[in-house]
Amino acid sequence: METSLECIDLPYGPEGKQWQDTLSSLVSWKSTVEKKGLVSAPSSCDVISCEIVPEGITPALYQVPSTGLTTAQHDQAMKETLAVIEGPQGSLLGYACNRSFKVPSLFQCPFTEVMINNGGSPYSGIRSLSFRPKWMERNVLDYYASLWNAKWPYDQSDPLSCWGYILTMGSTEGNLHALWSARNYLSGNYLQPHTDPSKSDQPSTNPIQQPSIAPSMEPVVLYSCNTNGSLPRLCNMVNLPTFDVIGREKYPTENPLGGDWAAGVPCEGGDAGPGTIDISSLELLVDFFSSKGHPIVLVLNCGTTFKGSFDDVELAGSKMVEILKRSGMYERVKVDTESVSGRVIRKGFWVHIDGAFAAAYSPFLEMAYKNGLTDVQPPSPFDFRNDFVTSIVMSGHKFIGTPWPCGVYLVRHSEQIVTWGSTWNGSPDTTVGLSRNGHSSILLWSYISLNSYDSQVATVLECLHLVSYTLDQLRKLQSKLGTDLWITNYPPSLAILFRKPNSETVEKYTLFCPTVCIKSEIRHLSQIYIVPHVTSKLIDSLIEDLSKPDAFEF
Ligand SMILES: *Cc1c(COP(=O)(O)O)cnc(C)c1O
Repeated sequence: METSLECIDLPYGPEGKQWQDTLSSLVSWKSTVEKKGLVSAPSSCDVISCEIVPEGITPALYQVPSTGLTTAQHDQAMKETLAVIEGPQGSLLGYACNRSFKVPSLFQCPFTEVMINNGGSPYSGIRSLSFRPKWMERNVLDYYASLWNAKWPYDQSDPLSCWGYILTMGSTEGNLHALWSARNYLSGNYLQPHTDPSKSDQPSTNPIQQPSIAPSMEPVVLYSCNTNGSLPRLCNMVNLPTFDVIGREKYPTENPLGGDWAAGVPCEGGDAGPGTIDISSLELLVDFFSSKGHPIVLVLNCGTTFKGSFDDVELAGSKMVEILKRSGMYERVKVDTESVSGRVIRKGFWVHIDGAFAAAYSPFLEMAYKNGLTDVQPPSPFDFRNDFVTSIVMSGHKFIGTPWPCGVYLVRHSEQIVTWGSTWNGSPDTTVGLSRNGHSSILLWSYISLNSYDSQVATVLECLHLVSYTLDQLRKLQSKLGTDLWITNYPPSLAILFRKPNSETVEKYTLFCPTVCIKSEIRHLSQIYIVPHVTSKLIDSLIEDLSKPDAFEF
């Protein structure tokens, strides 16, 4: 990232300190070159994304520095927000939202007594409506944009900045948005205008009236066989074929991996391996499909659901870029009679990172490692430091642990497509739903405010420590029993696999039980995740149950 684009002396946060002075020493701009660049600085001094807020909101109070906020600052912001939301609710007339619903008393808090709805883009329709706490949402987006090394804050006139929103569903919705966008982008649909409507005299055009550039190529989706089960469903939903579907349909006898087309790019070592995408198979497939003229949608994992493994994003992406440059698919120039220059340049790929579980903790693992606090190596950078990464999603209810599903989604503005449908205050609404969960924005904002970088690093270190403790205990039990318990963990994954115990234990600890085939042997396994609520006491209790005579059905 170019230093000239960074505004490290911008006043940031409730104390009005310069941004660089708010940084934890873990990522300090003034410390060693090694640590510099673990997060991205704000890029623009005059566009600070939470400037436009309703009366009663103090913008700087919502900017969350890496040190987090004090409890007093956090509580003041929550009270201020509640007051602004509560104010007009008694006289609500303009929206079809019934306010006489009774929340059960056990569920009640002041925030469940009000209607909150963050409909539309986080960056539009923000001035007028008090029940849309987008000032919190935008600061959560800024926080993760910095953590994932994106250019921030979002600036509609800057194609290099990142846009995003807090998801009402979890990562499934972010994956859907990425695939939907990738399909439209790679098929040549119009992009979002890179102008600021408030700075322009021109009326904004309704996207429906814009003609589409004729799609001439059929994109193909590639992801590993360990990818989350929501992906095939979503590809089907947006009519975006996976490579095996196109392969069977158009190239039945030409599979570069040999044999019949099968779903999912093979993983290293199959079921017996670490669950990461096999780079040489990926290269063969990218080469095959791009040489046939198919743009590539590549979905890579930062923490798979099963095994919690990390694809080597840096290697996979750079290999893909090399191949696309060779096959002339890296950039495609299309003639567009409607555009002023007559030329439109589009990339021939979209790389989406599914970080549902691990995008929340791997940046902190990297900080810990680079500061010499752990020997556990972080995965290769999955974030926007890679020029080829287009979009990233993370769930809020997984590692972070919000009580209901939600998530964070970021996408490069340069690739943001015009979507069809309604507009908000002259700026197109590019989210999936019209209404969006605003309570989630408040919860995520509260989480980042009360959890500094340093405390999140400490949390990750505790998890890693408990992973090795659990592995030790399981191995001790294994030697006592004299039976292979198939104990497996692939660092830096927080998932541990071992032989499935009896159903009583499975139920007691709500274990996830996959079945795999290793060297033609069927293995019934169970998987546990070492997340922040897990304690050594809970592990001891599990080990005690696993030590009982009938714990395993051999
Ligand atoms: C859980 C998960 C999903 C689905 O995310 P939700 O937040 O449950 O919608 C997608 N990808 C991966 C890797 C997951 O672990």
